[in-house]
Amino acid sequence: MREAIANKFERDNGLSFTPDQIVVSTGAKQALINVIMSLVGPGDEVVIPAPFWVSYVSQVQLAGGIPVIVKSTLEEDWKVPVERIAAAITPKTRLIMFSSPCNPSGSVLTRSEHEALAEEVAKHKDLYVIADEIYEHLAYAPARFTSFARLCPEAADLTVLVNGMSKAFSMTGWRIGFAGGSADLIGRMVRLQGHATSGPPGICQKAAVAALTGPMDSVYAMRDAFDRRRQAMVAGLKGIEGLDVPTPDGAFYALPGVGAFLGRTYEGRRLAAPAELAEALLDREKVAVVAGEPFGAPTAIRLSYACSEATIAKGIERLSRFFGALR
Ligand code: PLP
Repeated sequence: MREAIANKFERDNGLSFTPDQIVVSTGAKQALINVIMSLVGPGDEVVIPAPFWVSYVSQVQLAGGIPVIVKSTLEEDWKVPVERIAAAITPKTRLIMFSSPCNPSGSVLTRSEHEALAEEVAKHKDLYVIADEIYEHLAYAPARFTSFARLCPEAADLTVLVNGMSKAFSMTGWRIGFAGGSADLIGRMVRLQGHATSGPPGICQKAAVAALTGPMDSVYAMRDAFDRRRQAMVAGLKGIEGLDVPTPDGAFYALPGVGAFLGRTYEGRRLAAPAELAEALLDREKVAVVAGEPFGAPTAIRLSYACSEATIAKGIERLSRFFGALR
């Protein structure tokens, strides 16, 4: 499995890792917490650009660390400018962690944005980076995925790439994630994992080897399908007056702003926050969206287009009816 992952890093990212620089975990989620538990102690700060994947904050808190959230706006395409990240770094900062393509915003860092971040990181001693690249195969042209480690050779030893099988390969339930980094850090993660789960089941690893070493055409066919779904969802959302809809470049989420609707009433219920709006939507229209607050996007809702175009069309119809009825 580790050999197959090393070949994958070589093939897709142009990176050379030896097997002792790779760990296979029970989902990318365990790879992430392995890194955090290995690096972060009480009082250490972890810079997390927002919006972020929900588990990052909880994982840092579990390690006793302090999540330092750095905000971005919808107008910035949900990307935090590097100067704002730089301003959040203190002598206590141990780690920066982000995903690109991003869950929940779908934003994809460009090569130059990645380079600017790499330059900033290289200025600091012992500052680690988790580049969560689990959506690497789900970036839609003209956006292009770039791997962070490739761009930051000075900090290669301090960069951990986290990836896994659950997104592009649709193997979510097989629970296979992996990380590549320095042999020292990976060794610490292996020792930690050895006392937690040992490792993922062999049968799942066999399946993941088959996926990683097999032909990629089904992955690319799915990427094209997600792109069509993305376009259908974004066009539908843009047709709803009052919604603020950026176009996501990757992953399978849209993160529209609902600020214009907050404080309005729906069937006598005042909807003060996205969480209340999401609850009313589920109750009345049976549409499941996720409130933006836990992702660090307090005036947005997250929608997933990991479903058929027919379901998206039906969902958009219901969303239009719902938002049209808000007074
Ligand atoms: N990282 C990001 C950005 C995710 O969105 C997810 C899952 O939603 C994960 C990691 C965890 O993936 P896994 O299913 O491999 O644990």
